Amino acid sequence: MTPARRLGPGKLVIATHNAGKLREIRALLAPFGLECLSAGDLGLPEPAETGTTFVENALIKAHAAASAAQLPALADDSGLSVAALGGAPGVYTADWAEADVFEGGPGRDWYMAMGKVEGKLAGLGPDAPRDAWFSCVLALAWPDGTQVTYEGRVDGTLTWPPRGALGFGYDPVFVLQGDTQTFAEIDPAEKHAKSHRACAFARLVADQFAG
Ligand code: IMP
Repeated sequence: MTPARRLGPGKLVIATHNAGKLREIRALLAPFGLECLSAGDLGLPEPAETGTTFVENALIKAHAAASAAQLPALADDSGLSVAALGGAPGVYTADWAEADVFEGGPGRDWYMAMGKVEGKLAGLGPDAPRDAWFSCVLALAWPDGTQVTYEGRVDGTLTWPPRGALGFGYDPVFVLQGDTQTFAEIDPAEKHAKSHRACAFARLVADQFAG
């Protein structure tokens, strides 16, 4: 299938202010010879994520950055869904980490967020299923309004207490199906090869760069 539009060589804005996502997206894009600039480097504002789906929020972020920078932009919207919690926190994953006081001011406290998920699971009793999945939508947008999205998902289980210091966000409690270590214990290169972001990215690469 021919893509709606292809990225040429040159500059691409990575439309995220999340250092963990930026690190992973830069690593995934490294082989493709693009000049990656982050929304933070360019001083772009963070748009409100008012969508109710990963696709909507990824598109909001990609279009906001493409239009502000007048460059193609790539955004990621992702999150953790827990089956026994009806898919929560899902698109609200980052919101569950919002803390009034974290490291001296308002911020995102991932340990508190992991604890909140664990507390809700514990409230369902000791036999509550611990199945969970990470979703990722990558959205590409161009200044003329063209857009395309790519989705990825990986399934696993939640472990407690958190384990590992690598990765970011909810990585210390997520064990991919078939693995025993959490995403925060495995080598980042291994996570880049098999995460939800890697799945979405493989689709982007097949569409944008193959052939
Ligand atoms: P948003 O896409 O900016 O709304 O944020 C989604 C949140 O989901 C991130 O800030 C992370 O906490 C979490 N998340 C997304 N991808 C990952 C991942 O690869 N590992 C751990 N947590 C993740």
